[in-house]
Amino acid sequence: MSAVILLVSGPSGSGKTTLCRRLVNEGEAHYSISCTTRAPREGEVHGVDYFFLSVDEFKKSLAKGEFLEWAEVHGNYYGTLKSQVLDFLSQGKDVVMDIDVQGADQVRACEDSVIQKALIDLFVLVEDHTELRARLSNRGTEASEVIELRMQNSIKEMENAPKYRHLLKSADHENDYTQFKSLLIASRLRQ
Ligand code: 5GP
Repeated sequence: MSAVILLVSGPSGSGKTTLCRRLVNEGEAHYSISCTTRAPREGEVHGVDYFFLSVDEFKKSLAKGEFLEWAEVHGNYYGTLKSQVLDFLSQGKDVVMDIDVQGADQVRACEDSVIQKALIDLFVLVEDHTELRARLSNRGTEASEVIELRMQNSIKEMENAPKYRHLLKSADHENDYTQFKSLLIASRLRQ
């Protein structure tokens, strides 16, 4: 069995972060902790949810070539550290990455054969926009103008769904998780 990178994208409110976290809590994979310049939400912890960096710190890491990919998303910078992916893969651990569609394009285009061999990509789709807006509002973590920005970006992000080899049409949490975990387990069998 060779280690898998499970790259997951989807609109805000699709539940992708919850899916990734649950997989990690069950000990199935390592969560690639991203860097971001966005402010922490209540309860988010540096080094657990994200590495929260200033714009200057982010740019320094970028200049040092530390990122596997990076993008500006909803007005903030986000990036995946190479070490978060490659160090764990080299230990034979599966890695889940929760990144946006721009970052996914960069990972797909990356020439590193280790990454290409390990890469499995999945888009989590919420077809009903009313449902998506409700999920974003119910989270209660974002102001109404942020929800609007995220809704607009979500609709654009969803146009990228056909680029992904795997598509999960989000229904309910349990059903989504069963399919999500099954994809990881089945991907371990590929040659
Ligand atoms: P949030 O602010 O809700 O945690 O994340 C906003 C968006 O940024 C989500 O679509 C998430 O997938 C994306 N994101 C999180 N980390 C990264 C990263 O390292 N790189 C990229 N390109 N996108 C990321």
